[in-house]
Amino acid sequence: MKAVKRNIISTLEMNSPQGFEELVAGSHANEDVVEEALTELQRENRLAYHGRHDGYVTVEGDCAVCGQQVPNIECQRVTVSDGTDSDVASEEYVLHPHCRRVIFGSWE
Ligand SMILES: [Zn+2]
Repeated sequence: MKAVKRNIISTLEMNSPQGFEELVAGSHANEDVVEEALTELQRENRLAYHGRHDGYVTVEGDCAVCGQQVPNIECQRVTVSDGTDSDVASEEYVLHPHCRRVIFGSWE
């Protein structure tokens, strides 16, 4: 199961979204095992079914603006540092393109 999950994640990181049939074909496991792996990965918040793209995608994290999952294919990253202390590590946030526009709209 662990190997199947790892395989699904690495497959989706290289090429997503992918539908259930594609993931079964690519994982060399039977449908029951793939379905169980997908269920576990969604519960662990590492993968989501993305209706708009009609397939499974990996999840990069929760959006800094709206709090919803950000699929890797839409992920925008913003690095924020306060600029006053170079020893303080800057923080990286993930967000959706539309949420990014809400904040940085006129900068693009
Ligand atoms: Zn968002």
